[in-house]
Amino acid sequence: MSSNKVGFISLGCPKALVDSERILTQLKIDGYEIVPTYEDAEIVVVNTCGFIDSAKRESLDAISEAISENGRVIVTGCMGKGSDAQTIKALSPKILSVTGPAAYEEVVGAVHQYVPHTPSHDPLCDLVPPQGVKLTPRHYAYLKISEGCNHRCSFCIIPDLRGDLVSRPIAEVMEEAQRLVRAGVRELLVISQDTSAYGVDIKYRTGFWNGRPLKTRMQELCEALGEFGVWVRLHYVYPYPHVDAIIPLMAQGHILPYLDIPFQHGSPTVLAQMKRPAAAEKSLDRIEAWRKICPDLSLRSTFIVGFPGETEEDFNLLLDFLSEAQLDRVGCFQFSPVEGAKASALPNQVPDEEKQERWNRFMAVQQQISRTKLQDKVGQTIEILIDEVDGQDAIGRSTADAPEIDGRVFLDNASDLNPGDLVKAQITAADDYDLWAGG
Ligand code: SF4
Repeated sequence: MSSNKVGFISLGCPKALVDSERILTQLKIDGYEIVPTYEDAEIVVVNTCGFIDSAKRESLDAISEAISENGRVIVTGCMGKGSDAQTIKALSPKILSVTGPAAYEEVVGAVHQYVPHTPSHDPLCDLVPPQGVKLTPRHYAYLKISEGCNHRCSFCIIPDLRGDLVSRPIAEVMEEAQRLVRAGVRELLVISQDTSAYGVDIKYRTGFWNGRPLKTRMQELCEALGEFGVWVRLHYVYPYPHVDAIIPLMAQGHILPYLDIPFQHGSPTVLAQMKRPAAAEKSLDRIEAWRKICPDLSLRSTFIVGFPGETEEDFNLLLDFLSEAQLDRVGCFQFSPVEGAKASALPNQVPDEEKQERWNRFMAVQQQISRTKLQDKVGQTIEILIDEVDGQDAIGRSTADAPEIDGRVFLDNASDLNPGDLVKAQITAADDYDLWAGG
């Protein structure tokens, strides 16, 4: 009898999570069993994150723990590339293999090499659930449409880690989406580094899905995904002119009226220093035009304050942008240098107290916007996707809320509901970020 037990630790962002899911799916297909404790596992796979220094530290801690608790470790993910890979290899000879992100075949190959296993022939034992093995709750799933990025934002090292954009063929993406929906997924979260660039690397090549030609392009992908009848949410979109064509699909209810656009700043000077894609686009005009077509559109974005060289005037431009754009959901980070990123070496770094002070002012402006926007929803009846049920209480999300990063809707008298249910309820109260609904 060959042993087949593998431990798995998954760290990092939703994109890393998708990598983990793919590796786990393949291991299950190959007859391995995923076990939750170090002592039961023959070997442990650690999927790392190398985006910022604290994530790297967390990854190194996880690797060290796996070495001491188990002793046979395979490392993969963002930290397994470049100079960090050497740091990891130097940790211990018990690290058997180190690979970078999206190295599914190599990781699975290493597991086969160090834990040789002949799958049993009992189809009941080796049966993989049709949706694959997922780490997210059953009712929503991330759908990764490409790897890498063609941009070179000065604060980001993702292109160094993951390389240029490589789009997954549209037929493959649609197959995966279909499998997920058939397995009960009610919400697909489309992710990549730049969703609006989907297909650009393969010249929007036409693929065939269910015998029908489909271009590998954002619009065709949205049209096709919309046919599944589940929530389709777009992340990491840039405000290029061709994104205009997606808005009518939202207005018609084909995909969710939600766009996650990382604007990062409102000052043209800072955006130029950041080397942001679509920095020259007239974002505010575009937002106004989109809202005319789709008044329910929810916009989420992230911003960086205290970028090197950001003056008080630049910062005020950012606040003006915020006030005018009236975004629904906003995250804000204080700039922190990342090893290897060009921005880390820029002159005129902003002192920490100044960053904190600007962050406070930024958050105060956005908090007021968010409060007003959510108050406007009181009295409306909206659709809610239920995430958790605990006794009489349930927590769900509206179409304006992506899991983990946006707000929530709290419901009472909800004991008959289950995660994944889609319900309609009237909003009865709101605070700065969340909503309450009654049946
Ligand atoms: S668009 Fe910019 S921030 Fe985003 S992954 Fe590409 S280089 Fe990094």
